[in-house]
Amino acid sequence: MSSYRREVTVIGFRDINKSERIRLMNGSGLNCSSGRWLLNKEVYMPAIPGKVNGVVVEFSSNVNRSVDEKIINALKHILHTDISSGHKLNRVFISSANDQHKFPSRHVQGNGKAVDISRINGMKMSVFYPSNPSVKAITDAIQSKFETFPKKRENFGPFFQKKLGQPYSVGGHKDHIHISVN
Ligand SMILES: [Zn+2]
Repeated sequence: MSSYRREVTVIGFRDINKSERIRLMNGSGLNCSSGRWLLNKEVYMPAIPGKVNGVVVEFSSNVNRSVDEKIINALKHILHTDISSGHKLNRVFISSANDQHKFPSRHVQGNGKAVDISRINGMKMSVFYPSNPSVKAITDAIQSKFETFPKKRENFGPFFQKKLGQPYSVGGHKDHIHISVN
């Protein structure tokens, strides 16, 4: 079950998707007009939970966990304790989600469409990739697994850099995995 974060008042009409609609607070003053919805009180937005498939998710203190639901689905797709045979994944560390980046970064597009993972089982990729066999195996397995996520976009990390499934030249991703969704 995903966790949700209460978001600040939004005044005005905008389109919201079905999953948002059913998570609106009861009695939140919601009005419907021509298929669009007026949000004039709080809504619950999807937030990255503290545990995914038994894998503990830790966060840098400046991370905004409110993200596009597709990012949460992506994390559910890639985070598994047995993602790499012989190397148990217990914890990941998220260094950025919907924060710390400027447009047009996917991090701050829409409700937040990217996430960065920088530590595996408490070990920083910047220090332990590729020298630590477990960090390397799990990092590589996570990146490989994300390639099978239907809504994948960017998959940049120390193992490879791909965009929409194709090799893509981009620097600066030796110390973390950056994944984004369409
Ligand atoms: Zn990133």
